[in-house]
Amino acid sequence: MSAETAVKYVTETPQEDIDRVSAWINTEEYKEKNFARQALVINPPHACQPLGAELAAHGFEGCLPFVHGSQGCASYYRSTFNRHFREPAPAVSDSMTEDGAVFGGQNNLHEALENAYTIYKPKMMAVFTSCMPEVIGDDLTAFIKNAKNKNIVPQEYPLPYANTPSFNGSHVHGYDSMLVSILQTLTEGKKIEGRCTGKLNLIPGFDCNTGNYREYKRILKEFGIPYTLLADISDVFDSPLDGTYRPYPGGTKLDDAADSINGKVTMTVAPYASAKTFTWVKENYSGKHVALPTPFGVAKTDEFILQLSRLFNKPVPESLKEERGHAVDAMTDAHQYIHGKKFALYGDPDYLLGYISFLLEMGAKPWHILCSKGSKKFQKEAQALLDASPDGKGCTIYLSKDLWHMRSLLVTDPVDAMIGDTHGKFAARDANIPLFRFGFPIFDRVNLHRSPLIGYQGAINMLTTICNKFIEVRDETCEDKYFEMMR
Ligand code: SF4
Repeated sequence: MSAETAVKYVTETPQEDIDRVSAWINTEEYKEKNFARQALVINPPHACQPLGAELAAHGFEGCLPFVHGSQGCASYYRSTFNRHFREPAPAVSDSMTEDGAVFGGQNNLHEALENAYTIYKPKMMAVFTSCMPEVIGDDLTAFIKNAKNKNIVPQEYPLPYANTPSFNGSHVHGYDSMLVSILQTLTEGKKIEGRCTGKLNLIPGFDCNTGNYREYKRILKEFGIPYTLLADISDVFDSPLDGTYRPYPGGTKLDDAADSINGKVTMTVAPYASAKTFTWVKENYSGKHVALPTPFGVAKTDEFILQLSRLFNKPVPESLKEERGHAVDAMTDAHQYIHGKKFALYGDPDYLLGYISFLLEMGAKPWHILCSKGSKKFQKEAQALLDASPDGKGCTIYLSKDLWHMRSLLVTDPVDAMIGDTHGKFAARDANIPLFRFGFPIFDRVNLHRSPLIGYQGAINMLTTICNKFIEVRDETCEDKYFEMMR
């Protein structure tokens, strides 16, 4: 049986109606109606808060992410990470059902804490909520306190928790809330007057590119700067396959995280994905506090490298200077293939600002910029980047819009390519343009999370991917007489 005959349509729609509507949704008239939409979101490019909280929890040694809420929600976060990293994402849920919704979820939480503590022997459990306990108003603070008072877990056991209501914010905000709670828990009573670890505490924010974490570590190693990554998911989601299953591979050591409060410098390279954490760090951590944009492209990487040099009083290593030269050379070589091209972008604020900088450096136009959970602050910062370059002229930022809005933009005001995550593939297909998968999640390509996007190497990686695709498209679509060896 062919695929066509296997599909049974519920209603028969005449072909002429299908053709008429297919043409209509590509019109300006439809775009106006689409942009007037208020009460429906279609294919939003963000996930819910608890998914972000789970990522933060995975970044610490021996930590078991614990979902207070529904089993189905927990499966969604785990399967999203499974599909993106193609690695296990061990986490537990207290599996609240109808009785929990009526009577509150404390019994579920306590029983699950006891089971998880006994069976999986984590060094820490990081508890966060799904929609259901938030809707019914479960008092997580009291539930956790009661669990300790009932000796379900020892008093001194680290049990950070965060309210992560999914009906506002996104995965980025959930990440931030969980991270600050973990740091508050681990550093409690650890601040020592006069002590300085001499280390950099680096906060990468919600970033599902394991290559980026390794790149940060490599750069710091080149400098000889001791560091603690808060939080490090690189070995957790990119662990070697050697026949042994490890439930907790990698992660930031809990002792290092605890001592991070006595650090020399604490730097966030994801100001939007760590806003709450960084505010708390500034009030509580020793040493200097620095917020920098995610180092995408040459200018932002220069800023990152020069700040490291200044803060740690170390010259920029020759190896990094050379690497910068390689990046500039690669950009010059590839410039002609990307210059003047228009792009549509969507994703998280920190990544989007990185894409914009990188594209403007290459003389490309970040034409449609869509941030489904962007703030006015983000809009101002993105606009300032656009205003600083002649290539930013005519580019537009869209807040609180989804990928169905993006589709309307692509078909009424076409661009050459799109940058984002797998969710945009439908719109890219309808618009017949390439989609460069640099964001999260990426379900339909392999190993992209291992390829760094930050730093000079990241700039080379991004422009190589983009320019080679444009060349490939030309090869595939040009007339025979223009099919050349040299491009
Ligand atoms: S939005 Fe709410 S119901 Fe849906 S997966 Fe997230 S927590 Fe669960």
